[in-house]
Amino acid sequence: MKQYFEQASAQWVRYSDYEWKKDGKGILYLTPAADAKPIMYDPLADDENPLRICWNCAKVYVAKRKDRDFCGASCRKQFDARKQDDTH
Ligand SMILES: [Zn+2]
Repeated sequence: MKQYFEQASAQWVRYSDYEWKKDGKGILYLTPAADAKPIMYDPLADDENPLRICWNCAKVYVAKRKDRDFCGASCRKQFDARKQDDTH
């Protein structure tokens, strides 16, 4: 589970533009355009993507609201309790 979490939080790269090319055998393939810029892309930080990682249990969940950081109320409570322990 922890390993999956690390992979899921890794940054992806996508390109600003793509173009189709043909190789020697006439097979089409998609390649980044010559002037395309690589863009760092974190799929889990994307506002359009409702998938989030719970700050408490590291479980992937679907956020119904953008300002939610936990998969449920119990995880929020556990996280807040831990945070208070740290400050003491
Ligand atoms: Zn959780």
